[in-house]
Amino acid sequence: MAKVLFSSWNGNIVDERVKEDEERIDLKDLGIPNQYDQRDIKAMIGWAGLIVADPDLNIVESLAEYYKSMQKESCGRCIPCRAGSKIIADRLDQLLGGNGSEKDISFLREMATLVRKGSLCELGISSPVPLLDALEYFPEEFKALIENGEGKPKNGKYSYQPILTAPCRNGCPAHINIPGYIECIKEGDYEGALAINRDKTPLVGTLGRVCVHPCESNCNRQPYDQSLSIRLLKRYAADFGARNDYDRKNPIKKEASKNDKVAIVGAGPAGLNAAYKLAQKGYGVTIYESLPVAGGMLAVGIPSYRLPREILNAEVDLVKSLGVEIIYNTKVGEDISIDQIWEKGFKAIFIASGLHDSASLGCEGEDQCYMGYMPGVEYLRKINLGEQVNLGDSVAIIGGGNVAMDCARSAIRLGVKEVHLIYRRSRNEMPANKAEIDAAEEEGVKFHLLANPTCILEDGGTVSGMECVKMELGEPDESGRRRPIPMDGSEFILSADTVIPAIGQVADFCFLNDDCGMDVTKWGTLVVNEENMASDTPGIFAGGDAVLGASTVIEAIASANRAAEAIDKYLSEGKSYVSKNTRLEKHIEQTGVYEEKTVPEMIGDRERQEEEVMPVEERMYGFDEAELGFKCPEIAVEEAGRCVKCLRLGMAVVAAGREADE
Ligand SMILES: Cc1cc2nc3c(=O)[nH]c(=O)nc-3n(C[C@H](O)[C@H](O)[C@H](O)COP(=O)(O)OP(=O)(O)OC[C@H]3O[C@@H](n4cnc5c(N)ncnc54)[C@H](O)[C@@H]3O)c2cc1C
Repeated sequence: MAKVLFSSWNGNIVDERVKEDEERIDLKDLGIPNQYDQRDIKAMIGWAGLIVADPDLNIVESLAEYYKSMQKESCGRCIPCRAGSKIIADRLDQLLGGNGSEKDISFLREMATLVRKGSLCELGISSPVPLLDALEYFPEEFKALIENGEGKPKNGKYSYQPILTAPCRNGCPAHINIPGYIECIKEGDYEGALAINRDKTPLVGTLGRVCVHPCESNCNRQPYDQSLSIRLLKRYAADFGARNDYDRKNPIKKEASKNDKVAIVGAGPAGLNAAYKLAQKGYGVTIYESLPVAGGMLAVGIPSYRLPREILNAEVDLVKSLGVEIIYNTKVGEDISIDQIWEKGFKAIFIASGLHDSASLGCEGEDQCYMGYMPGVEYLRKINLGEQVNLGDSVAIIGGGNVAMDCARSAIRLGVKEVHLIYRRSRNEMPANKAEIDAAEEEGVKFHLLANPTCILEDGGTVSGMECVKMELGEPDESGRRRPIPMDGSEFILSADTVIPAIGQVADFCFLNDDCGMDVTKWGTLVVNEENMASDTPGIFAGGDAVLGASTVIEAIASANRAAEAIDKYLSEGKSYVSKNTRLEKHIEQTGVYEEKTVPEMIGDRERQEEEVMPVEERMYGFDEAELGFKCPEIAVEEAGRCVKCLRLGMAVVAAGREADE
């Protein structure tokens, strides 16, 4: 277990050097993981300071390595960062070589201050922090080198693991290079921005419309004014590419064809992304899809007024252009079994079957098959596949998440006169995006908050409404939200021709059998190793909602990318593991990069740019796209210009071992 000797991380000084080992705090107490790659952390060096966990660590040598890594990452646009970090690295090397003098201490301090003050982005501004902290709190290490010509023994047994990140990039589960593509947009290079996104996913236009953008919650502008509109910048790059025939002009490069074939269950975002990555590696990829369309919930869940189908279909075509075969109307577990897939010579299987059944309400009458009772995912699937649904004049939708909002807003567009939404907590606790809640209300959805159904009412086998009870909020439950408690005697009747529960989705794992050897958690999701997405059965991997539970498109993509890396290694080397960079991204994600109180120095006042939105009275009458993105390139460039490039270089120092990309 790594114990802290000293930490200046995020400006909080914790000096444990005088204490006995057993009295020292653990790295975890600082919110830093103890290990990287199952090896104890000896030190962390980075934008937020210095953490030392090993008394034998040669700090000066570690810092020299850190500034050598800076050399590789500094873009060179400002002299203080590029030249300053080189001068610092050289001077530290000089000290380590026994050629230092007293003057070097003040020189290093001045140089670090100069880099901090003179750099034009946060990489240069933040990187001198560990050196300044070391000079202040470990002067004896520098002094020993100057006076005796040598300090502590060299860190021969340690290895340095540097990684460049940013709060936004770190907040993105797929770790898309957000600062990189924003920089491209600043310069009007929209194709460059699209190419950076395509490195991780084919679904750029899709994400630009529906991503829940955790990156924006990590944007350092947020506490200052408003976070950058990162999702809309992504959309701008994707739409520019679509308008300018980017994909035809820039075919995706593929490695030479390999003999091994991979089968994928489900053509949702997880399945499509894994196929995209594996096909680029040269594998033959076949996706088995139970529906007649590809896209999973993007095609049969999310309504087309949020994600136009031509955008999704073009991105599915991009995956197919790599040679990926999609076999439609084929349900694994019914039309073909896992065993039969193996028999066809596939060497690995990726399961990405999502959650396509509705969670039950636990209320009287829900399992009576009344006409007019229709689970949310079934209703959305039907309207998205162009099937007829008869909702009547009034609909009651139960739930407060995005699925419930999609059900309600779709019902408005289908011409239902009264659309009611029943949610058991208050508006503040609603899990749906605020923009979705506001839009639903604007479009005329009637909210019944702090209410819950107790019984589905019927008349001759057809739904006539619901009995509901009013709720009050008690103490917070395990989810941290206040627990809704029914109020005795507050029952009321809500009339409705159709009742649509939209409180969650569950999986249908009809393909699992004993030979499959896969376990299911108590939440009804598949058990895999969350780093490489491998199950206990050799060759079977899984990702997306089937593993994560009801999650998001970007999480599905991230898990599929990890699985694709691991499947490639499994097929080429017989061991399932993800790349070193992916492991480091995870490590730094656990360390945490976003610090709310850290406001970048050069932030300046610039207002967040808004997208164009179709007026409410126009958008309510059809399924045309309602949010239209940035109107012109000037707005996109202006928004990108609000980014202050909060790049961060971090470096974990760990025991040597597992050095290759293993
Ligand atoms: C209505 C709705 C709105 C949403 N809105 C958003 C949003 O705005 N932003 C966001 O980030 N996320 C949103 N989500 C969540 C997001 O859509 C999912 O997290 C994501 O689609 C999961 O991807 P997946 O590939 O794991 O599964 P899915 O997208 O569910 O795809 C699974 C695919 O597998 C197929 N399949 C299932 N079983 C089999 C089988 N046995 N054989 C063959 N094929 C099979 C299915 O037909 C489906 O095509 C929404 C979800 C819903 C339901």
